[in-house]
Amino acid sequence: MSRCFALHGIKGGACHNIQHDFFLNVTPCCIVYLCGMQIIPLSEGSFTIDGSKKFIPFNIDADNLQERATGSLLVEVQPFAVKTSKDIIVLDTGLGFLNDDGKMQLLANLESEGIMPGDVTKVLMSHLHKDHASGVTLVNDRDQITFPNATYYVQEREMEYALENDGKSYIAEDFKLLTNIKNIVWLKFDSGTIDDYIRYEITGAHSPFHQVFWITENNETIFFGADDAPQLHQLKHKFVAKYDYDGRKAMELRKIWKEKGEAEGWNFLFYHDVKYPTVVLRTS
Ligand SMILES: [Zn+2]
Repeated sequence: MSRCFALHGIKGGACHNIQHDFFLNVTPCCIVYLCGMQIIPLSEGSFTIDGSKKFIPFNIDADNLQERATGSLLVEVQPFAVKTSKDIIVLDTGLGFLNDDGKMQLLANLESEGIMPGDVTKVLMSHLHKDHASGVTLVNDRDQITFPNATYYVQEREMEYALENDGKSYIAEDFKLLTNIKNIVWLKFDSGTIDDYIRYEITGAHSPFHQVFWITENNETIFFGADDAPQLHQLKHKFVAKYDYDGRKAMELRKIWKEKGEAEGWNFLFYHDVKYPTVVLRTS
């Protein structure tokens, strides 16, 4: 079988090509095989979140959203692994959710694809909110980094801000080990490149120093907008989110990314989309 193909499907359904008017979609049931890179969604599951900022597991087949607190949002929590010719990259590290065996769901997901923690070579962090950074260290031992051989790429100003704002959204205990490890690259600028094929840019939209990433290899681009572009519908519909630091800026950036991504065939990764982890927008 040729390596150069993409599998597309609907969550819970068979993996096969499905084409909608607006987009092609791909799901957690499938690894997405690009010509060179692979995208592996690492969902920890679906959750509701309300004003208390607590993430409560939600079973889409059995639970009723109306029974959750008024204003609850339904979100997936979904880090990603990307295999390139040079690296195994993890994009954000999730909530640190433990599965029924008491194992970190993130690690169980990776292992089921044959990836051990020591195999990961880079961890790219969009920001340090608890649903993205609680898997930086082991849930049962916060003195151990989760991916011991990886280089962690973290925005320096985000770390400073997170430590100053420890509490509801940031849980410093989960990630402060980063200030004390050798394998850390502090990103200090508003934009830059990593190893000539990964680009980052601070947006200051969802949080003051939130950053987004593009990974480009063999003329293919994967775009990780994290919480500036967390769900497909926010790309399709204009939307100012109350939970963003600068919701208008996030909305304007999504418009730019949608147009550029459509024209250039980006693979969008959606961290909080319960249905569509990765999407390629169509130009028609
Ligand atoms: Zn988030």
